[in-house]
Amino acid sequence: LKSKLPRVGTTIFTVMSTLASEKSAVNLGQGFPDFDCDPALVNAVSDAMKNGFNQYPPMTGVPALRQAIAAKIEKLYGHSYDPATDITVTAGATQGLLTAIMCAVHPGDEVIVIEPAYDSYVPAIELAGGKPVLVQMTLGADGYAIPWDQIAAAVSPRTRMIMINSPHNPTGSVLNLADIEALKDIVRGTDILILSDEVYEHMVYDGLRHESICRHPELAERAFIVSSFGKTYHVTGWKIGYVAAPPALSAEFRKVHQYNIFTVNTPVQHGIATYMQNPAPYLELAAFYQRKRDLFRDGLKHTRFKLLPADGTYFLCVDYSAISAMSEADFAVWLTSEIGVAAIPVSAFYDSPRESGIVRFCFAKQDQTLQQALQRLAKI
Ligand code: PMP
Ligand code: GLN
Repeated sequence: LKSKLPRVGTTIFTVMSTLASEKSAVNLGQGFPDFDCDPALVNAVSDAMKNGFNQYPPMTGVPALRQAIAAKIEKLYGHSYDPATDITVTAGATQGLLTAIMCAVHPGDEVIVIEPAYDSYVPAIELAGGKPVLVQMTLGADGYAIPWDQIAAAVSPRTRMIMINSPHNPTGSVLNLADIEALKDIVRGTDILILSDEVYEHMVYDGLRHESICRHPELAERAFIVSSFGKTYHVTGWKIGYVAAPPALSAEFRKVHQYNIFTVNTPVQHGIATYMQNPAPYLELAAFYQRKRDLFRDGLKHTRFKLLPADGTYFLCVDYSAISAMSEADFAVWLTSEIGVAAIPVSAFYDSPRESGIVRFCFAKQDQTLQQALQRLAKI
């Protein structure tokens, strides 16, 4: 069979999690919590099953869930999406991203991707026959930043879409208003679409504000916004999320969604719709994770790692160049095998070879897990 994705192998997340379990390492690699979700959420889903919500839901998602999503977005970001036409429930953010790309990108179209980038973006563009145009973030004393002048220079008549991810995996950086203004300047007067990956929307720290693309009407009108309940409710294995987009974009999205997946499992949708009536779990998430970030960061201050800023997400990047000259992939394997703490090489988020001497740790872990990792890291 002639491969459609000849360059794709096993994802780095699977590789590092497998190695972590072989070596009995503390797994701070793949991003997922090592603690369970709220029992009230499990009860809401099991009640839905017991109450007979076990057949196909509507193609676009259970109405109560779409309403709850639209209400949350309006309350937090002030943008009004119509749950009937603008919100589609997806099998996680990954499907939302792929479906948005499949419906919008035609063969030969260019999609601007900012590196480091989540690993599903480039293959999704290639599957659609599109051409990824890669622009790398700059890395300075204040951490990673988006070079908007280079993005403007990368725009061509073939540019169909710009992909944005804030809060950003793996760097933990978040877009600010200056970034938003720069993006507005680039797309104004063009028909360029925005695909905004906001799966970490509720994890922004130190009083910063999540700049959802939908806060800004001139961007919202051309944007697909993707989020994931896996991150927000500590249920990465449930694979459920949503895409919000204006009616014309949602209509095309739904054409692909209908034949890609058709529907997303019914009882989980009902359970989340009930659970979302209480905003506390997502409103309290930032404080919950900021405390874990600080615990982990304070512990790392006693090591030779140089810490990069982590304004959002549940990831913290560290520069290990004072410790080793190994490549990032080799260092991550060494750290897992010899020190007993798994991490992800940031080079895995680049399409072309790039070494910065940086690895990513995930701090969505119980305090005792973080403390155990810190004890091991202190020995380096
Ligand atoms: N985008 C980013 C930036 C992510 O970090 C992840 C999860 N690792 C996803 C998308 C995929 O989310 P989901 O598990 O809901 O498909
Ligand atoms: N998004 C998670 C991460 O960045 C992993 C998801 C996956 O395993 N594909 O670690």
